[in-house]
Amino acid sequence: MMIIVMKRSATKEQVDALIKRINRWGFETHLSKGDNKTVIGVIGKGETLQSRAFLAFEGVENVMQVNKPYKLVSREFHPENTIINVKGSKIGGKKITVMAGPCSVENGDMVMQVAKSVSANGATILRGGAFKPRTSPYSFQGLGEEGLKILRKSADATGMKVITEVMDVRDVELIEKYTDIFQIGARNMANFSLLKEVGKTKKPVMLKRGMSATLQEFLLAAEYIMNEGNEEVILCERGIRTFEQYTRNTLDLAIVPAIKELSHFPIIVDPSHATGRKHLVIPMALAAIASGADGIMVEVHPNPAEALSDGVQALLPSDFNTMMKAIEIISKAVGRTIS
Ligand code: PEP
Ligand code: MN
Repeated sequence: MMIIVMKRSATKEQVDALIKRINRWGFETHLSKGDNKTVIGVIGKGETLQSRAFLAFEGVENVMQVNKPYKLVSREFHPENTIINVKGSKIGGKKITVMAGPCSVENGDMVMQVAKSVSANGATILRGGAFKPRTSPYSFQGLGEEGLKILRKSADATGMKVITEVMDVRDVELIEKYTDIFQIGARNMANFSLLKEVGKTKKPVMLKRGMSATLQEFLLAAEYIMNEGNEEVILCERGIRTFEQYTRNTLDLAIVPAIKELSHFPIIVDPSHATGRKHLVIPMALAAIASGADGIMVEVHPNPAEALSDGVQALLPSDFNTMMKAIEIISKAVGRTIS
């Protein structure tokens, strides 16, 4: 891929004319319009691309080649941070976003209770699985559409937005009717047909890192989504598998500043699945904000002992409030604000 950086003074006519010409040469183009810079990504075979004198066109400031395997998700293609607009709530930028809710949608009353409590304390996005990727087929699999209705109702009643997992391409259409953000779970990060399918929708997608995925594989999974036309991707670090057994996973916080350097997408940290233990969730949530994450996702349950999934890592609503007070302090210290 070649990246054509336009001059600040370049006119719309110059940009349009260049794109038209490139397309006529048989190359695919992707336009990235930032506040400061307009960038055109040109996809085609190396040699034929290099033979074209893009620099000779009016309005062109610079031309460079992206040698990384991921292109559209790279900072080179989109120098400014991508800010995701979820029906008016922004993810990325200066704001810290807090997503909270139960692991699974269990029943209407419980989700409403959690939504009321976490929204009153600063969470703006309600999480909860209606379709659950469980390790065992004998474990609770989720309520399906009924669960989606419960989530929608609780979010609307509290002014929150919904995020919920889609596990199967056959469910994309149904889930799209109820959710504001699609969640792709860690187990499906490399389900390329599913990535393509959500890439064809117009809803933001939060992509969780696979438990054994490298940073490059993670970004290439995001590239699949963006390559289908959906430019609203949120990345999520949720821990990776290592030899350590005490924690459920090992939280790889260094990926947060690494992603910030290599990509323009916002990144959220999920300290619940990353640690698997309640008393580790708050310290890691704070560390995530300190490391530059754009937000966190945590599991909250009013009665963790009775939870149908992931009770051991669930915060009580009162723990959540304690966490939010500390997050406010850390956010300020790193120049961010809670949305
Ligand atoms: C979840 O967030 O509900 C979940 C199943 O997490 P992960 O895909 O990270 O395991
Ligand atoms: Mn869970």
